[in-house]
Amino acid sequence: MDKFTQLSDEQWRQKLSPAEYYVLRQAGTEPPGVGEYTETTTEGIYKCRACGTELFRSTEKFDAHCGWPAFFSPLAEDRIIERKDESLGMVRTEVLCANCESHLGHVFEGEGFPTPTDLRYCINSICLELEESPVE
Ligand SMILES: [Zn+2]
Repeated sequence: MDKFTQLSDEQWRQKLSPAEYYVLRQAGTEPPGVGEYTETTTEGIYKCRACGTELFRSTEKFDAHCGWPAFFSPLAEDRIIERKDESLGMVRTEVLCANCESHLGHVFEGEGFPTPTDLRYCINSICLELEESPVE
């Protein structure tokens, strides 16, 4: 894998658009309902927009009506990092790409969604890139 974790802020700024940089590298959040993948049901693999690592599959995406793409599980446990986030006066679990350590969103549990895990990986569309392909 490339050494994405060693890129400087300046290198990230050149690689990403300002909006991508804000969410991926400054842990921003895109407004609800505007992301390009919020309602997408196309089959495929969602990759990290910063480094291209395959993170989520359409088969684990579900409609949580929360305004952002929601997944009940990552493609594999080792594709993401989960870390405690106490910003904004809340305790949440931040989700990052394990390869480039870019911010992706947050994961919430125990909300009662009828999914196999009862987890909701709430991921910003702008952090993802959908590669359309049949998923087993
Ligand atoms: Zn990444």
